[in-house]
Amino acid sequence: MTGHFINGALVPSTGATNIEVRSPAFGELIATVPDATPDDVDRAVAAARASFQAKSWRGKDSSEKELILWRLADLIERHKDELARLESMENGKTLREALRADVNPGIDAIRYYAGWVRRIYGETIPVDGPFLNYTLREPVGVVGAIVPWNYPTCIATWKFAPALACGCSVVLKPSELTPLTALKIAELASEAGIPNGVFNVVTGYGHTAGEALARHMDVDKISFTGSIRTARSLLKASAESNLKRLSLELGGKNPNIIFPDADLEAAAQSAFSGIFSNKGEVCSSGSRLLVHKDIHDRFLDRLVDRAKKMKVGNPLDPETEMGSQISRQQMDRILGYIQSGIAEGAHLACGGGRDTEGDKAKGYFINPTIFSGVQPHMKIAQEEIFGPVLAVIPFSGVDEAIEIANGTIYGLVSAVWTSDIKTAHRVAAGIQAGSVWINTYNGFDSASPFGGYKQSGYGRDLGSYALEQYTNVKSVWVAL
Ligand code: NAD
Repeated sequence: MTGHFINGALVPSTGATNIEVRSPAFGELIATVPDATPDDVDRAVAAARASFQAKSWRGKDSSEKELILWRLADLIERHKDELARLESMENGKTLREALRADVNPGIDAIRYYAGWVRRIYGETIPVDGPFLNYTLREPVGVVGAIVPWNYPTCIATWKFAPALACGCSVVLKPSELTPLTALKIAELASEAGIPNGVFNVVTGYGHTAGEALARHMDVDKISFTGSIRTARSLLKASAESNLKRLSLELGGKNPNIIFPDADLEAAAQSAFSGIFSNKGEVCSSGSRLLVHKDIHDRFLDRLVDRAKKMKVGNPLDPETEMGSQISRQQMDRILGYIQSGIAEGAHLACGGGRDTEGDKAKGYFINPTIFSGVQPHMKIAQEEIFGPVLAVIPFSGVDEAIEIANGTIYGLVSAVWTSDIKTAHRVAAGIQAGSVWINTYNGFDSASPFGGYKQSGYGRDLGSYALEQYTNVKSVWVAL
């Protein structure tokens, strides 16, 4: 049994409800964590507020803050195998993915924001009249970071690293399904020299711990990654409490568009990993594959051949390419979408069911699934499935591709494959999405902003843009 990490120490909950963290691949119990009560959340927020008021972190010299963040990144790096194993066990993703796509980018994000600590400053503005006018960029205060289960380490760092770089204090609430790495990182943060109360973690469900944080009168900002449904309740919580500011990183139904003049080998490989990496539980997965009708059949064959050979199984086995879905609920949801695709008349080209071979019967494995002949209005082309299910949609021209690409409520990421520079830029300009990848997929870098258009959310993680979320700008006027 663990506890919450509050004011520099692991402390027991004031409540009696516990959450069992189980491996989705094997079903075994990994740990038990408490479900935070409102009192627990209060204690964490009070610790964060006290540290903020005392300026124990934000008052430190910038060079020292930078060093401490570097030390934290180094400590995480030293423990990266342990963290990746925890991720793989609690999430069901392969160990390789846990290290490469979750823990390693998290380390990089902390180093990137360590580099920002000494570069967050205001400007002098040439206003009219006998005045000196300058701006200060001040930390917003206490930040609540609410994160999902699909990239528990990486997404947490996307929140707390810029928040700490700006001088804020943080209360992190990981998903109830994947709480363990956050607790370990909090411990390492303390060891790195982050003062007590500056970095706290409360574990618990969304409707308990998350809601208490979102409604807390002394939280200044919530940085959120997760579903649209939760985003709506956060907006309501903010409106009904202290109007705390929000940044929202939500889902996607991302178009990956293939023109006949593209490097089709590279495009196929990328389309494949774009949908099946992390078992499709990726906000930026290329879940809608728009293929030009002239190459449609051969491109599809290539993908189907590859998908049928994919090795699904034990996430800890280095040979495994795809692990287990996160939970029974998520697996059932995905299987429900597969049934809806069949019912609406899409053609099931491969997969389509649960994989229960051998030991896999204990977990929530799904065969890589590809639908062809998908119409843009179908449910499997409109809604985020968050699983290894690809919807292949044929198209004929650039304008039609852009129209289909923009025809959902989402606007997170997109990609276009072509050797024609005009087509590439027309599509990039026409698509409503926070990222456009040209002849590549899933380009991420700590320095490059990431976030959505439309109902994929607002605000940006990563890059210098994220710093806006954690600072207030103060305009100072001096009469000369
Ligand atoms: P979710 O919204 O169910 O949960 C996310 C977090 O919010 C969890 O910590 C959860 O406990 C908490 N939560 C749930 N209800 C809450 C409430 N009422 N008040 C406060 N907190 C609450 O999402 P999920 O199922 O964990 O993650 C999957 C979703 O996240 C998908 O839609 C996916 O696209 C999205 N996602 C987006 C990005 C991005 O960067 N845009 C990245 C990863 C995942």
